[in-house]
Amino acid sequence: MYKDFLECPHCEENSRQTSMVPLRWMAPIVTRSDGSRFHLLLIDMPTKFSPGRRDIPSGCLAAGFWYVHVAFAPTPITVSVLLTAPPMEFAVLEGQLRHIADLLAEELLTGRPLCPQYEFDGEHLTEMVLAYQG
Ligand SMILES: [Zn+2]
Repeated sequence: MYKDFLECPHCEENSRQTSMVPLRWMAPIVTRSDGSRFHLLLIDMPTKFSPGRRDIPSGCLAAGFWYVHVAFAPTPITVSVLLTAPPMEFAVLEGQLRHIADLLAEELLTGRPLCPQYEFDGEHLTEMVLAYQG
């Protein structure tokens, strides 16, 4: 697995734009690829999540990832991960984002599309069921 690169080996292989520079300079470079079929990247720093849902505790952070896959995602698809117990220290948060990227990349390695939304409690990534209201 290729990790935390700026020029994507998968894009190079598939003649796509290869730059993986995040939107803002504060965002850590968190990228994953198998070098041929897919890449995954952290879009930006996680932001506070405030959707007005009572079943989600306040203080959660939402992290966005983009991925492409030659088999089912020709254009970037967004995956949102809700960190339900975000750490206070940035270094720990960064480590968790890299861990999340590892887990998502493992899913992509199996050849299955990712879910649109996940929850991360600091250790485990679980699929999130969207509760639509009204
Ligand atoms: Zn790529």
